[in-house]
Amino acid sequence: MLQQVAVTNLNPFIDLTIMTPIKTHSKTGSVSINATGQTRNAKMDTDRTAKLEFGVQMTCDSCVNAVRTALEGVQGVKSVKIDLVKEEVLVESVLTSQEVQALIEGTGRRAVLKGMGGVEKDLGVAVAMMSGAGPVQGVVRFLQVTENRCLIDGTIDGLEPGAHGLHVHELGDLTKDCLSCGEHFNPFGKHHGAPEDLERHVGDLGNIMADSDGRSSFRFEDPQLKVWDIIGRSLVVDAGEDDLGRGSHPLSKQNGNSGERLACGIIARSASLFQNTKQICACDGVTIWEERDRPLAGMGRSKTDTPAANL
Ligand SMILES: [Zn+2]
Repeated sequence: MLQQVAVTNLNPFIDLTIMTPIKTHSKTGSVSINATGQTRNAKMDTDRTAKLEFGVQMTCDSCVNAVRTALEGVQGVKSVKIDLVKEEVLVESVLTSQEVQALIEGTGRRAVLKGMGGVEKDLGVAVAMMSGAGPVQGVVRFLQVTENRCLIDGTIDGLEPGAHGLHVHELGDLTKDCLSCGEHFNPFGKHHGAPEDLERHVGDLGNIMADSDGRSSFRFEDPQLKVWDIIGRSLVVDAGEDDLGRGSHPLSKQNGNSGERLACGIIARSASLFQNTKQICACDGVTIWEERDRPLAGMGRSKTDTPAANL
């Protein structure tokens, strides 16, 4: 299964239209955790603004009004543009993509994230679909806002409540699940550390915090990570808290002693705003609206009772 995810993610036109079956409940009041483990309210941090492009099933003006009402006035949502003909909703927001999607889907319509970009022209976008042997799964996106600012936006479900180390690893190799991802991405030969340290691995993203539902929804920025350096590598979430190199355990300076690797995903290039024009995958007749309910490949991907898209 991990291999299928990896292979599929190599296609930049597919990756953003596949969503894992993350439960969608609104967390608009939630508090985000930054990479140093300190809590802070994501909605108040204007540096984290991003533009999110959603495909939303809309057939009439009342649909447009419902979506607009669901988004406008919500704290953290800065602007909303809706195109009924293109079934497209563009949201400028400091909320995570998962939070915005939940707001739109609260109107009873499906929403698929088609692209993500900066307020100014961004320098690249990537995505990792996270899964593992257990129940942990999620989607994490990387948006290079400027040369020294990489915005990381994600939701991971199925975690034990509490802190979990999150790291970019050097290899995009899932042949032995997360065990073959190699060590933390460390091109400068440094010791493990905290995201704000100068002495750190480039892949050291600190901790994310899971709530009592086992969900971690986060958005933070990193000064060292560059999207172009990490495509083809992997992202791994660990069972335990990363001690940020400050612990007494022998592994502290090596990997923060954050324990077993719970879930991982290959980091793949993905679509920036308006780059993903896909509506129907002509190869198997699965539209972007249906795609979330289907396996990524293999049996069940293409339903025989569904006529081929054409066309
Ligand atoms: Zn490290």
